[in-house]
Amino acid sequence: MANREGGVAVPDAAIRQKYIEERDKRKRPDGLGQFVKLATSDKFKYLQEDPWADHAALNTQTPPLKDGDEVKFLVQGAGYGGLAFAVHLIEAGFKATEIRVVDDAGGFGGTWYWNRYPGLMCDVESYIYMPFLEETGYMPRFKYSYGSELREHAERIAKKWGLTDKALFRTRCHHATWDDVAKRWIVRATEKRGPAEPSREIQFKAQYVFVASGILTNPQIPRLPGFEKFQGEHFHTSRWNYDITGGDPVDWTMAKLKNKSVGIIGTGATAVQAVPQLANWAKHLYVFQRTPSSVDERGQRPTDPDEWANKIAPKQGWQRARSQNFITKLTNVPVEEDLVNDGWCSTDSYCAVIGAPGIVPPDKVSEHITRLHTLDLGRAERVRHRTNDVVKDPFTAERLKAWYPAWCKRPTFHDDYLPTFNRPNVTLVDTDGKGLDAMTEKGVVANGTEYPIDVLVLSTGYSVTVENDSGSPVSRAGMTVVGRDGLSMDEKWIREGAGTLHGVTTHGFPNLFFPGPTQAGVTANFTHTLSLLAFHVANILADAERRVDSTERVTVEVTKAAEEAYTMQILMRSTWFAGFAGCTPGYINMEGARDNETDSQELMKAARAAPWGEGIVKFEEMLEAWRADGKLEGLRIEGNC
Ligand code: FAD
Ligand code: NDP
Repeated sequence: MANREGGVAVPDAAIRQKYIEERDKRKRPDGLGQFVKLATSDKFKYLQEDPWADHAALNTQTPPLKDGDEVKFLVQGAGYGGLAFAVHLIEAGFKATEIRVVDDAGGFGGTWYWNRYPGLMCDVESYIYMPFLEETGYMPRFKYSYGSELREHAERIAKKWGLTDKALFRTRCHHATWDDVAKRWIVRATEKRGPAEPSREIQFKAQYVFVASGILTNPQIPRLPGFEKFQGEHFHTSRWNYDITGGDPVDWTMAKLKNKSVGIIGTGATAVQAVPQLANWAKHLYVFQRTPSSVDERGQRPTDPDEWANKIAPKQGWQRARSQNFITKLTNVPVEEDLVNDGWCSTDSYCAVIGAPGIVPPDKVSEHITRLHTLDLGRAERVRHRTNDVVKDPFTAERLKAWYPAWCKRPTFHDDYLPTFNRPNVTLVDTDGKGLDAMTEKGVVANGTEYPIDVLVLSTGYSVTVENDSGSPVSRAGMTVVGRDGLSMDEKWIREGAGTLHGVTTHGFPNLFFPGPTQAGVTANFTHTLSLLAFHVANILADAERRVDSTERVTVEVTKAAEEAYTMQILMRSTWFAGFAGCTPGYINMEGARDNETDSQELMKAARAAPWGEGIVKFEEMLEAWRADGKLEGLRIEGNC
């Protein structure tokens, strides 16, 4: 029986049956094809334009990287991932002057550059989410920082490590080819210079390339019949248009919405944060829902400086210890004291996404899934019950319940989202898993009814790849990367499936690194993984360069044998993630495509792309042991004269 706090218990089997029924409503034959990727759509590319770049100022700056230049370290991506690579290289002994950062964006921050929607905040405690707090001496203003603070922190990190003038912004890398004679990557990119100047094609050489392009950077919208007829204002949440709403990224006073009928499509993690802000200003807000998010309590509060000084950050090493405590708790390994102690820390079943100690034998998969459901049901029922406690209209409360386990979609935590549905100016338009029917000149059609809309917010998420769906680390960046044997990384992935050493490098692509998450240890705190892998790679390179006479021509490449041996380790542990089968569609399971796969080779390829099944703590221990061994086992280092 499911154990629901303060309510009548419901049989587990009935709930699991309900999960299946709800998932089946949402399965679609078009899968990933239901979306338009903005990056590759001529028709909709206007929705992906950068609203934030200060072209006038950037055009007057001396570019840190020009056509024909050569650089030692090219870091592609100026988010927390790219910054982690750059900082750890410097900490490992390399010079900031040897590094150049390139980003499509007009500034540092990555996710926090592009996303500036009202209500934006991190969902992992900022004390562990924001990297390098100790080194920068910064105290976040809130337990969960808001977007502008997160972006400013990226700038703070860049400044502290001398990277501010090392970044070429508004520049998208599209090709990289390995020159095996020169031992350099030849990178081609397009530098945009705003509406007043033409774009420039540039090419440069790099000894090492780091692809830190993120996984949630490519906005998508649903392919809705009649979209192009819609006459109302509209934008994607990752390119919020404050000219339309009023307000700005810091002051969410959206006074221009006062007389407007506003619609928002989507109820994922983004919408959960934006909806309460829109409801504060819209004359009427329609929330178009296909699948509800699970929304638990947040417990947002300002940072208490005394608590900060005495309890949170009292001594050197506090941030790593706190983050370690969090990731350990999330894999259900007991900790002496739960330091973060928030909603994540009681989401025991989230280990289904991130792994936990113990290998699941293939004949025990079914028991493993049952155990995950047992871990989940009590919490899931409590969170569903919460909608009845908070939302006054029982019909609406019922429709806001998430009928899937915590691992199928990112669980959300928010204090104001559910109460928003008690407001007279807010209507939940639930489509019972169908999604919208169409769009018209005037608005949106759902459940056969046309809703007139003045301003439509597309909170419809991201495509995890750009050009193709190979799933390779560079497909997320929309780059064609051709390695030593003339093979592109996408071709390699499509042919063989994923293959890496430690989730950071792949055979045939020397001196090229990426920060997982494929075949790496993962956790709910994304920056933990990014820092861990950046530290690992920086130390590999420092060690590799110490071993050669000439660092000029050094190459670091995983051998094919080591890649396969490591991939076998991944495969052995991949049964841990069996709980994803049967999940409601979403970007995590390629919109349910995995469930339909019957070809054993394709299933094997999917399994190769799993993260480290025993969880990030064990993964980190494995990396530490590998480094301590001192042999750089599995890597071929060349460069001696
Ligand atoms: P990003 O921050 O995505 O940065 C990648 C950068 O690479 C981008 O600026 C992009 O423009 C650039 N880029 C990509 N391709 C190219 C190319 N070809 N050429 C040049 N530049 C390129 N995670 C959490 O753990 N906790 C959270 O609370 C959290 N909140 C989130 C909120 C939102 C709205 C989103 C979208 C994601 C959130 N995430 C969260 C996940 C978040 O993406 C990561 O935490 C982290 O910021 C990723 O950093 P990154 O540097 O790897 O990628
Ligand atoms: P999601 O992919 O999570 O959500 C997209 C939403 O659009 C879903 O509700 C989806 O419904 C809906 N949708 C798609 N197509 C249609 C359609 N045709 N009709 C109606 N609805 C439709 O994107 P988000 O931007 O919300 O979040 C992406 C990720 O970014 C999160 O998983 C999280 O990792 C991260 N994030 C974290 C945040 C944080 O807490 N700090 C904040 C924001 C994002 P359906 O579910 O049925 O597909």
